[in-house]
Amino acid sequence: PTSKLPDVKTTIFTQMSLLAQKENAINLSQGFPDFEVNKDLSNLVDHFIRKGFNQYAPMIGVENLRVEILNKYKKTANVDFDPNSEITITAGGTEAIFSTIATFIEKDDEVILFEPAYDCYEPTVKLFGGKVRTVQLNFPDFTIDWDFVKSLVNLKTKMIIINNPNNPTGKVLTIQDISALIEITKNTNILILSDEVYESIVFDSKKHLTFLQFPELKERTIVAGSFGKLFHVTGWKTGFCIAPKEIMAEIRKVHQFNVFSVNTPTQYALAEFLKDENNYLQVSKFYEEKRDYFKNGLETTPFSLLNSEGTYFLSASYESISNLPDLEFCTELTIKNNVATIPYSAFYSDGKDEKVIRFCFAKKKETLDAAIEKLQKIN
Ligand code: GLN
Repeated sequence: PTSKLPDVKTTIFTQMSLLAQKENAINLSQGFPDFEVNKDLSNLVDHFIRKGFNQYAPMIGVENLRVEILNKYKKTANVDFDPNSEITITAGGTEAIFSTIATFIEKDDEVILFEPAYDCYEPTVKLFGGKVRTVQLNFPDFTIDWDFVKSLVNLKTKMIIINNPNNPTGKVLTIQDISALIEITKNTNILILSDEVYESIVFDSKKHLTFLQFPELKERTIVAGSFGKLFHVTGWKTGFCIAPKEIMAEIRKVHQFNVFSVNTPTQYALAEFLKDENNYLQVSKFYEEKRDYFKNGLETTPFSLLNSEGTYFLSASYESISNLPDLEFCTELTIKNNVATIPYSAFYSDGKDEKVIRFCFAKKKETLDAAIEKLQKIN
């Protein structure tokens, strides 16, 4: 058959997780927690299934959940939106991203992306005929050259996709970054797709700044959010998308024929669980402790650590260990040392190899200990 995406292969996350399984290695590659979900939350799902909440949810999502997400945003970010017309519950952050791109990107539209970038943006843009213009973040601090971003903007620029906090670098945008983005997009029709799925995981007293807090951005921004990251339930594939009414109306046209609606009992359970702010206010602290624990461990190995300001990822350079290309290095590390990670080249469209790999530290203490012990044996 013909292929609309001839260059796309099975994602690096699937590839490395499969290799980890085959080699019986500790899997710090694909990003997902290996610890249990809060029992109250899983009991709530049981409860709603038994109560008979098993048929289609409303296309736009269960009302209680939309309202509770709004309440959370009011509490944590002092942000307001209309829970009826400006939010849709999606099949994970990925569906929010896919449906948004599908809704707006047409042939020859240009989309600005920042690399290293999460892997789903570029293929989706291409699927709808769009062209990607990439901005590589400065290495190794991953700051953004906004003058360069500005130089890429032209009349064909339809969208800017930005991931904050960033997967894989853990970089969190500053108020200066946000001011630069406001400046660049003012008096244009550029849409911003703000992938904020790691918004609840930010460290060192930094604060996540959602674009919804800035009126100049809010009017043109689609925010993608995820419960997988917030409540350690990546397998529930439940997320959401927030955008101004007119933008959301268009996205819903695509969402309804893409997935129609999202699974019902988890939506009711999440709505109930969100009512208690204690269930979500401590997530950053919880992961900061894990980051520090893993970081201290990694410092006893030959890797050179990069900074992680947010997300559940920590990256490191292996330059002093090996000069293999990064995918080969990760493959060898999985087979010989039994620790699976993600090579950074997977996050660059030109395959740039910085000799950096990404570790996921959303793991039990035992898992992190076992990984460190293996990594200490490298010389
Ligand atoms: N978001 C996860 C990561 O970055 C991957 C999810 C997936 O496998 N598609 O590791």
